[in-house]
Amino acid sequence: MTDTAQTTRTDALGDAELAAIRADFPILSTVVNGAPLVYLDSGATSQKPVQVLDAERVFYERDNAAVHRGAHMLAALATETFEDARATVARFVGAREDEIVWTSNATEGINLIAYAVSNASLGRGGHAARALRIGPGDEIVVTEMEHHANLLPWQELAARTGATLRYISILDDGSLDPQSVDAVITDRTRILAFTHVSNVLGIVNPVADLVARAKAVGALTVLDACQSAPHMTLDVVALGVDFAVFSGHKMLGPTGIGVLYGRADLLNAMPPFLTGGSMITTVTMESAEYLPAPQRFEAGTQRISQTVGLAAAVRYLESVGLQRIAEHESRLGERLVAGLSSIAGVRVLGQPAGTHRVGLASFDVAGVHSHDVGQFLDDRGIAVRVGHHCAQPLHRRLGVTSSTRASAYLYSTDAEIDQLLTGVADATTFFGVGS
Ligand code: PLP
Repeated sequence: MTDTAQTTRTDALGDAELAAIRADFPILSTVVNGAPLVYLDSGATSQKPVQVLDAERVFYERDNAAVHRGAHMLAALATETFEDARATVARFVGAREDEIVWTSNATEGINLIAYAVSNASLGRGGHAARALRIGPGDEIVVTEMEHHANLLPWQELAARTGATLRYISILDDGSLDPQSVDAVITDRTRILAFTHVSNVLGIVNPVADLVARAKAVGALTVLDACQSAPHMTLDVVALGVDFAVFSGHKMLGPTGIGVLYGRADLLNAMPPFLTGGSMITTVTMESAEYLPAPQRFEAGTQRISQTVGLAAAVRYLESVGLQRIAEHESRLGERLVAGLSSIAGVRVLGQPAGTHRVGLASFDVAGVHSHDVGQFLDDRGIAVRVGHHCAQPLHRRLGVTSSTRASAYLYSTDAEIDQLLTGVADATTFFGVGS
């Protein structure tokens, strides 16, 4: 695969192309317990192609220096590379460069927004930040299917400010309950934070509808794009969200790098979250003036090689084509769900009719703990995620304490899905499910 060309192709990923993609990921040739690795845990973290590994290595071999400081040649080169990476990611999500803030992951991005809002609520940020202030009587709304990363920061924000946290409940099939949407989003709602794609159910939420509801009541929207940015075309401006976050490590990039998109006017009104070097214009012993976004949120020495790796990951995804990746994964997801649903004693969590879903599904094997299912599959080299996937309230709502999750990516194959299905069917026999 090349890592530079933007593809306009719309055809399905064929066997030869899939083989070429897989050859770019050295780890996929690992042998686990005597069997070839079947990696179906990309929802937790994706594997990395050589193009990403090389980009980081070359940066350290050729360009390494601290950015935005220093007058020497390497400092200039590193700064240019760092800002080029920002431009690549901005283009990837349809945003302006100054609307892209580097964070260490999506979790930090959501905390950054929540802390900026509470700092504004304490009166920090002056006149510009007034619109961000919240307090008693105001409401923050999330959904019942959120990852803890998009729940706990809002619980804490509510506790710090006296605002109330409310949530949109789900129906038994896992989809958001439209009546709950109507009841919970009101003119007291100041922030609506929700996931684009559920990391447990694989369901794609109706972003446009939710954004329209939030806008109608003047609430800010925060989109958790962790499970969408890696897998489908994401245009934050077209979606109309005020903020969006995602993590590099789930989209072929390195760990330690995340992205916060924020509307420029909002970012520039927000008081900073972390303070320190490289984010100021003037400092006295008593106070400081902060740079505009994005630098006002990038205190301290930045994760530079990780941004370079992430930009290489974006170019890789674009060279294959996000639309083609989405179709490949959606097809694998349908195969996965249909296969799991046909195994006696297996219940797939969340199956709303006609809802678009990605290549990810979680399931419960009656009477068998997910850890035992995971261990059984690992003995065959099949890597899945077990537990509550950082979504305890959702599991509780669905009447289970944990589940097994299989999640595919652009490098996953039909044969791998079939191996998983055989493994799960054999697990039900082994554990005597239904007998
Ligand atoms: N939101 C969703 C939907 C996720 O799937 C994840 C990771 O699993 C996160 C947030 C948190 O991502 P990170 O741990 O990279 O910050």
